[in-house]
Amino acid sequence: MSAVERLPKRYCSACGNVVWLRNFKPGPNGRPHARCPRCKSLERHRFLAVLVSSLKPAIGTVDVLLDVAPSPQTTEILASLRPGRHIGLDLGLDGRRVDVLASLTELPLADASVDLVFCYHVLEHIPDDRAAMREIARVLTPEGLALVQVPIRFGTVTDEDVDTTPEERKARFGQHDHVRWYGDDFEGRLQESGLTFQRVTPVEVLGADMCAWLRVEEDEPVWIVRRGSAMPARLLGETRLPGVMGALLGELTAERAARRAARAKVARLEARVGRSPLRRVVRRVKRIASTRRK
Ligand SMILES: [Zn+2]
Repeated sequence: MSAVERLPKRYCSACGNVVWLRNFKPGPNGRPHARCPRCKSLERHRFLAVLVSSLKPAIGTVDVLLDVAPSPQTTEILASLRPGRHIGLDLGLDGRRVDVLASLTELPLADASVDLVFCYHVLEHIPDDRAAMREIARVLTPEGLALVQVPIRFGTVTDEDVDTTPEERKARFGQHDHVRWYGDDFEGRLQESGLTFQRVTPVEVLGADMCAWLRVEEDEPVWIVRRGSAMPARLLGETRLPGVMGALLGELTAERAARRAARAKVARLEARVGRSPLRRVVRRVKRIASTRRK
């Protein structure tokens, strides 16, 4: 067990609070300790917070941010980029903050007009996902980025059926309104649609200890997507975070060992004082002093 696993608290990178692990709530499908009790963020939101701050130099100034299927957690994190216009887009209105009602397959936006598209867990809902991907390619500026996440099983091909019943969708795709579960061909679909990408996982960026400390899932990938066919230079390079975390944990372990040694020394000294003649003399003097007072 790593030193982090033994800690009773975790850090939520979405709201910036240190929170008791036991207070984290279960996530969708009963995943234990998934949701921050303070801001309700899930694992992917906490990694997004890290990703957004790490990508800030690559993203640069954001004039237009397209936030597809916005949630209060993601909207808050994306707002840290201080976009000129933050457009929340969804197909329907359900109480969330949405500015534009439209389909991702037919965006009411000009070509090359968006600096950042945020699109987490949307494509698996859309029957014609390639049309949605082509729209992302169309509206992105040449330097613009999209952050994309989908449910995926590597080592398989995409399982999809746009015509089946909600019950079968739930059984096959994990949710009644999902029409597929992506496999290895997901990345080919991005490329066919005029997009190129860098795939990153939390464990590559943060290391296993930091993943545990932030309660993020080590292998849940995010695609950092750009227009074009040439693979972009790595947009998110190596970070020093795993090294920083390793050093911190090393200090923590050394500190604990020193504290344990100090406690053991105090116990030894106390035992020795308990046996010493001096202690008996002190007790006798105290007894005499108390009888004299009576
Ligand atoms: Zn939080």
